[in-house]
Amino acid sequence: MSEGERLTELAKRRGFYFPSSSAYGGAAGFWTYGPQGAALKSNIEDAWRDRYVVKEGHQEISAPDVMPEPVFEASGHLDGFDDMIVECGECGATHRADHLVEDNTDIEEAESLPNEEVMDLIAEHGIECPSCHASLADQPVDNFNLMFETNIGPGSSSPGYLRPETAQGIFVEFPQLSEYARNQLPFGVAQIGKAYRNEISPRKSLVRVREFTQAELEHFIDPEEDEPPLAEVEDVVLPLYSAAAQESEDGGQRELTVREAVDEGVVESEWVAYYLGVSREWYERVGVDMDRFRYRQHLAGERAHYASDCWDAESEVDGDWIEITGFAYRGDYDLSKHAEHSGEDYTVFKQYDEPITVERATVDPDMSYLGPEFGGDAGAVADALEALAERNPDAFDDDEVTVEVDGESHTVPVEQTNFSVDEVTENGEHIRPHVVEPSFGVGRIIYTVLAHSYESDEVDGEERTYLDLPPEQAPTTVGVFPLMDKDGMADLATDIAEDLRAAGLSVTYDDSGAIGRRYRRQDEVGTPYCVTVDYESLEDGGAQRASESASGDEPRAGTVTVRERDTTEQKRLPIDGLADRLGRLATGDLTFDDL
Ligand code: ATP
Repeated sequence: MSEGERLTELAKRRGFYFPSSSAYGGAAGFWTYGPQGAALKSNIEDAWRDRYVVKEGHQEISAPDVMPEPVFEASGHLDGFDDMIVECGECGATHRADHLVEDNTDIEEAESLPNEEVMDLIAEHGIECPSCHASLADQPVDNFNLMFETNIGPGSSSPGYLRPETAQGIFVEFPQLSEYARNQLPFGVAQIGKAYRNEISPRKSLVRVREFTQAELEHFIDPEEDEPPLAEVEDVVLPLYSAAAQESEDGGQRELTVREAVDEGVVESEWVAYYLGVSREWYERVGVDMDRFRYRQHLAGERAHYASDCWDAESEVDGDWIEITGFAYRGDYDLSKHAEHSGEDYTVFKQYDEPITVERATVDPDMSYLGPEFGGDAGAVADALEALAERNPDAFDDDEVTVEVDGESHTVPVEQTNFSVDEVTENGEHIRPHVVEPSFGVGRIIYTVLAHSYESDEVDGEERTYLDLPPEQAPTTVGVFPLMDKDGMADLATDIAEDLRAAGLSVTYDDSGAIGRRYRRQDEVGTPYCVTVDYESLEDGGAQRASESASGDEPRAGTVTVRERDTTEQKRLPIDGLADRLGRLATGDLTFDDL
């Protein structure tokens, strides 16, 4: 069984995730997170929020999943958010053409190639339809737009789309968000939410789905002045697989610190380098195996239309590299596009330290001359003169000045323009912020973390499977078991479980089956600690504790067994202070050896 198949089997059996709507035959690319998966997902999202919102001092918003068409006209998604599709002439199945090439040749990033070249490669390598094995040679490779379309309200006059990335919900609202940030750059706005892509061929369970969760941060900066706090991460070592290395014969991955990567120009943008450093530490925190992880730079043809420097964080599962996060320097592309299409102001007013005096060229054209002379074009001619005065005041040096309106030249005597150059005092200027974006796919991170934490060993002569998830991410922190459901053991165990829950720990109570089987169940969902109440717990004062704490009195002495998942080592600990100790174990303030 491959690593991925093993994972999908465990995920279904133990309630991490499973295909949705299977009672009705299901729909490819949609998955439901079960109780363990939903808890793991929310822990990973909380860890993301903690690092990228709280610790960075950014703000979080929640925008709608459906947005009207003009948003995606402006963002470029309507025209350009396409993947390459090839349809089988025999059975009609559709496939992602670039993936077929990658799966059947040594080419790694066929997405960066033109459609015609992909079509030629399909023919050259005799690639067949994966569904019916007919030849796909000579089948056209077309573009397929990945957005899900819908209608807003009855009728079709107001088309809308399910957002293909959460980012647009931030960019569109920039004017308001900037106001909330008191128009002070830099500031960051984050969002964790659903994104939808009508993928041509969903595959590898959570890796390529049609509805998924993204955690995105848009960090708005002044490109002239703002610098990232690089010193905070400068010593973090980055496993970098640059575009140059990918293109050279003997090029491979290099380990460079953040500082070295910037100094050597391997990572062009200091902001991108900063987030690569922050993220390298974050992936480790949530359980990505750093021996199966790299940052890969986009090849020139692969880069999104808006981005100047792009790196992907990639994890390895089953020998394949999966993009789990995209890091992009998006420049001012998004804000410029929304400004152009909406006519709204997507700039920030940047106040100067001291007001400055500048010479400003202005015109005040005589409309009683322009009107009769240019008729319906008079207003446009006046606007063009104004723009020209600002752009190139020297054009007004002669007796006449010429402007173009709709491709037609109009000449105006300079004296009719009332051209003048005056000294004005300015307090600041409007600037268009640039954007740095780390964009995380939560599902792919979950898939990676589960694959990388999957372990097996032998315990008491039997094979055991367990997930060595970091305690902070584990869906359940503590399993509480009565050894047997008699003589007050269940009462005491229930009481302890309640105490632990009251202390904020995530607890599972389990009294069914042999104790060994209960340990295995928790091992398989990655529960780091299990507490067992046994006869000794009752003998050393626990029974009294159970009855007294039920009546509201202070708890008394009593001990339980605490078992650690990875080593299966067991220790006897007092019930008093148990919640505190387990809480500190879970946050890493205490180790099992310290107990
Ligand atoms: P790919 O090339 O794999 O289609 P992408 O480059 O289009 O991904 P981005 O647009 O950069 O992906 O999206 C940011 C993140 O969202 C990705 O790094 C990934 O983790 C996640 N993501 C994108 N598409 C999907 C999908 N279909 N299923 C699951 N996660 C996805």
